[in-house]
Amino acid sequence: MTDRLKGKVALVTGGGSGIGRAAALAYAREGARVVVVDLDAEGGQATVDAIGNPDSGAMFVKADVSKQADVEAMIKRTVEVYGRLDCAFNNAGIEGAVGVATSDYTEDTWDKVINVNLKGVWLCMKHELSQMLKQGGGAIVNNASVAGLVGGSFGSAYYASKHGVVGLTKAAAVEYGSSAIRVNAVCPGVIRTEMAERLLSGRQEIEDKIASLHPLGRLGTSGEVAETVIWLSSDEASFVTGQAIAVDGGYVAL
Ligand code: NAD
Repeated sequence: MTDRLKGKVALVTGGGSGIGRAAALAYAREGARVVVVDLDAEGGQATVDAIGNPDSGAMFVKADVSKQADVEAMIKRTVEVYGRLDCAFNNAGIEGAVGVATSDYTEDTWDKVINVNLKGVWLCMKHELSQMLKQGGGAIVNNASVAGLVGGSFGSAYYASKHGVVGLTKAAAVEYGSSAIRVNAVCPGVIRTEMAERLLSGRQEIEDKIASLHPLGRLGTSGEVAETVIWLSSDEASFVTGQAIAVDGGYVAL
């Protein structure tokens, strides 16, 4: 623990797996009390258990980020138990249909992806911002993607949702700067998580192709994204807001 966030309360959505779990562990390492939010209770509780030390303070809250009542209850519970909310990492997301052309995309899948990835981030921000305004400040990090910075084929709702997250991040940063609330996004390249494993489907040739899209020649790790999230959440980034920071091994530089 290096105490960069000692005394702070941090909330992570989608904290039951992948990048969210790595961020929850990193927030705890830095001394924050952590609220792990996920739809998946087993994964979320496993993250709380992995944080381990009960003194650091960590709890699981089950919520679907696309449902307003769940999001409202998640913030209420955070404030009831820990008294405040200083940092939020709005990370929960789904990939939707992969390999499906825009003209073949179904309305159901489109709505689901937009509801979780874009509306979900907005709902979380809406309730986080209300709490942070009462306290006089805070730091929000949204998880977009390189798919929020550049286009790509066969996953149109995902690209649209992530571009939306970047736009929402910038709009909120402008609105809430004078209230001492910083809002940034991280834009990961392909990161080895359960989501990525679903895309790779165990095929080495797909992994090699994807790795070659990153000038560093490999996929990223959840920990590499988590360290950027921690920096953006900390006072070390006190003059950084409205940014969409690629953590992508050079993917968007190609
Ligand atoms: P993951 O599938 O390993 O984890 C996602 C977590 O979000 C899961 O625990 C899942 O249960 C939870 N979740 C899904 N829908 C939810 C909902 N409606 N409410 C609450 N929780 C929900 O995926 P990951 O790779 O760790 O992805 C995390 C975020 O990072 C996503 O927003 C994803 O788009 C983004 N991202 C991932 C990559 C990558 O290559 N893995 C790259 C760029 C961006």
